[in-house]
Amino acid sequence: MSFILVINCGSSSLKFSIIDPANGEAKIQGLAERLSSPEAKLKTKFSEGTSHETALPNAGHLEVLEEILHEMGSLKIVGVGHRVVHGGEAFKDSVRINEGVIQGIDDCRELAPLHNPANLIGIQAAMQKFSEVPHVAVFDTAFHQTMPPRAYLYAIPYGLYEQYKARRYGFHGTSHRFVAEEAAKLLQKPLEELHLITAHLGNGCSACAVREGHSFDTTMGLTPLEGLVMGTRSGDVDPNLHDFLARRLNSDLAGVTSILNRESGLLGISGLSNDMRTLVDAVGDGNARASLAVDVFCYRLAKSILGLSAALDRIDALIFTGGIGENSKPVRARTVANLRVLGASLDEALNEENGKSAQGRITNQDSGLLALVVPTNEELVIARETARFLTLTPVR
Ligand code: ADP
Repeated sequence: MSFILVINCGSSSLKFSIIDPANGEAKIQGLAERLSSPEAKLKTKFSEGTSHETALPNAGHLEVLEEILHEMGSLKIVGVGHRVVHGGEAFKDSVRINEGVIQGIDDCRELAPLHNPANLIGIQAAMQKFSEVPHVAVFDTAFHQTMPPRAYLYAIPYGLYEQYKARRYGFHGTSHRFVAEEAAKLLQKPLEELHLITAHLGNGCSACAVREGHSFDTTMGLTPLEGLVMGTRSGDVDPNLHDFLARRLNSDLAGVTSILNRESGLLGISGLSNDMRTLVDAVGDGNARASLAVDVFCYRLAKSILGLSAALDRIDALIFTGGIGENSKPVRARTVANLRVLGASLDEALNEENGKSAQGRITNQDSGLLALVVPTNEELVIARETARFLTLTPVR
């Protein structure tokens, strides 16, 4: 049997999944964290249900891949799929990686200074360790390259777009695409006939207007800071807030950007946590700031969904996905309640069981808006894309 290795590489982390292209099952998956520090470690989980943790003091990405090779035993890898955050305007689809592609990803470094260099470290290390097989880059931004100019342009001098490519790109493309395709299967309708809004709510959050299978607008922009309220990211703010806070805090712009990325969102408002589970529990205990954070999160989500509807003729379904979207009943309930202008009405029993029956539906039969829960699987999309380039049997 042959497998595809899927790699999602951060500057000090490496997430991997070894997927059987015949059935899409993850044979082994794991996460290496705190790389290049004395606490570096790799946690590995096997499909049989066993798992273990290996300390790898001071290991970097190469050493982790070495360890993964060791864990794989006799499993044969036929291709490696890499998650790459930013493909700019250059990459409208997944590509097989060669020197030119590496240069292209590097050229997008300015657009994603935290992510693309880290993704490249993973690509280069993996190409060294798995030199015999094809490597494929799958971009978070590629799905959104179908957005029309009215959705992707900022209303700033056009020359700044032309010269610096300062525009909206959007992220989480693999997830939006996957859940839109899954929703079409659930609804038993061709994706090409559906107008959908997908809400990926994890640590990062974004929503997307998917019209006939293509992204027509999304909430994230030049960077993943724009749009919805997230775990530690503010989402939309007045652009003048940067200047205002920089003066008050006697900080530079980078300092304010860091606050908006790392100290804001659910964590910033609640002062307690960026984790939705913790906040919902705290709301139950009467914590007012946690309640405020959840309230702002759900209101802003509903407001963005209504904004995205301008890209569609109708909303055939709203899809919740990601750690929060798939699991947080109160977030879905409040968001649906905030969409009453569309006549949305929740089926409390279906919402309670996370839409696991009635084909993912969480709204009533007579609701003016159909809302579904559809679990995402970004690794599977990357494996499928990689398989496509290997001319293997497509992953089902
Ligand atoms: P990432 O964006 O890193 O892939 P996930 O999609 O795993 O993140 O989502 C992480 C978020 O999901 C966290 O905010 C976490 O609180 C939330 N989450 C996970 N399980 C639950 C749950 N049962 N109830 C509420 N929130 C949950």
